Amino acid sequence: MPSFVNVEKCDGCKALDKTACQHICPNDLMVLEKESMKAYNREPEMCWECYNCVKICPTQAVDVRGYADFVPMGASVVPLRSTDSIMWTVKFRSGQVKRFKFPIRTTPEGTAEPTGGFATEPDLEGPVLFTEPDSLGCPVWTK
Ligand code: SF4
Ligand code: SF4
Repeated sequence: MPSFVNVEKCDGCKALDKTACQHICPNDLMVLEKESMKAYNREPEMCWECYNCVKICPTQAVDVRGYADFVPMGASVVPLRSTDSIMWTVKFRSGQVKRFKFPIRTTPEGTAEPTGGFATEPDLEGPVLFTEPDSLGCPVWTK
């Protein structure tokens, strides 16, 4: 089932230009209702249930009711993101709770190299991908 917003927790991302859930949704589904400053999913049937909005929301206001085959009724899967890790809290129908914490980055925030350190100039007309051929480690046949 698609994402939904708990309006009691949503603060509209404190009136920033674009809310975090709007920024992250790959389907451009989240919108902010300006009068109430509450976000909502405008087309739930188009939601991929990718959890991006759930993970990025700073107030944990977004939830996804997962499919019953991996989140049975009465259970829940809730992520809590920090700057360097994400904690998944899995609550089973029996009431048992398990938590899993994973690192989400290998570099300090703001220091990631977009090119991965490869100094390749982008060739928009050529057949190779950005950072190639350097990142392939071998020459590329282009003719
Ligand atoms: S990211 Fe969370 S707090 Fe911000 S607008 Fe979306 S639902 Fe509301
Ligand atoms: S779960 Fe993914 S596709 Fe659905 S609204 Fe959130 S970010 Fe968009």
